[in-house]
Amino acid sequence: MKESKINLKGLTLTELENFFEEINEEKFRAKQMFNWLYHHKVDSFRKITTFTKTLKDRLNKIATIESLKLLDEQTSDNSKTIKYLFECSDGAKIESVLIPEANRLTLCISTQVGCPLDCKFCATGQMGYKRNLSTGEIIDQYLQISRVISEPITNIVYMGMGEPFLNYSNVINSMNIFSSELAFGISGKRVTVSTVGIPDKIKTFAQEPFRGKLAFSLHSVDEQIRSKIMPINKKFPFKQNIDALEYFYKSTKRKITFEYTLLKGINDQESDIKGIVKLSKRIPCKVNIIPFNSIAHTNPSGIAATLKPTSKEEFDFFVERLRSNNVTVFVRNTQGDDIEGACGQLAIKL
Ligand code: SF4
Repeated sequence: MKESKINLKGLTLTELENFFEEINEEKFRAKQMFNWLYHHKVDSFRKITTFTKTLKDRLNKIATIESLKLLDEQTSDNSKTIKYLFECSDGAKIESVLIPEANRLTLCISTQVGCPLDCKFCATGQMGYKRNLSTGEIIDQYLQISRVISEPITNIVYMGMGEPFLNYSNVINSMNIFSSELAFGISGKRVTVSTVGIPDKIKTFAQEPFRGKLAFSLHSVDEQIRSKIMPINKKFPFKQNIDALEYFYKSTKRKITFEYTLLKGINDQESDIKGIVKLSKRIPCKVNIIPFNSIAHTNPSGIAATLKPTSKEEFDFFVERLRSNNVTVFVRNTQGDDIEGACGQLAIKL
């Protein structure tokens, strides 16, 4: 039987050291390989000028450098947001979104093919779930997009398809590679991971040496409403998550970002404002208020089909009421909605 080759893209420095040790090559080759893979972005052993021909031939026989295939890119007319469609080596498809802002260029990356969590306001949740992405596939979204753009990517947000903390070890490995000076040298201050709330993973993340930022998909402070629009809340109630978030802040002194999509008649009432104000007094935070972006392209059913955005007047009123109660609020715009690349809109037929 033909042995499958090992994909070196996505291996951490320690994993590469183990690999070179196992094949009886010098350990320092791991550092060189790491640097060539991520800093020089090579996609073939042939291009590694510091390796001998013998070593390159050997690697070609036992290893590969797998890449995502860029199938399509769509640029938003009104915001210059770009949505990229990739194919993985098993044919699975994922999307990433590049968001230009005043002083930064943010890449929103996916961590799963689809998502199993079925949040009712999210297009990815409506498409179902296939599998976790490997560390290499997470990193490669950055590598492939860096190749086709002229400006450097300054920030990374783990907010594309999937729940990052359901793919914890691959996500953490990718963060460690992003932050390594031998690879991309991206500081934790410029990396945000967004979760719907897996309490034990929030606590573990607080202990990681990589000092990334944490965003929490809040969307309601009411357990019942949250369970209705985010079924995962039945398994991990909001109360457990508040404890974990408090732990995160106390351990790291990093403020939490709460994400809150305003849904007409569901989470845009006076009681919701009071709940957010109370929460912000307990946990140092900022709150991103997000307009609901249509998920009609996924042909939603059940509750998902009934969701509507809060009117402009009520949206502004909600934001104003929070601000007047000393909550730090940012309003996310609908950047990229014309290409279904705005917040909560990513979806592909599985
Ligand atoms: S919001 Fe995040 S966790 Fe929820 S369904 Fe969408 S991708 Fe999954």
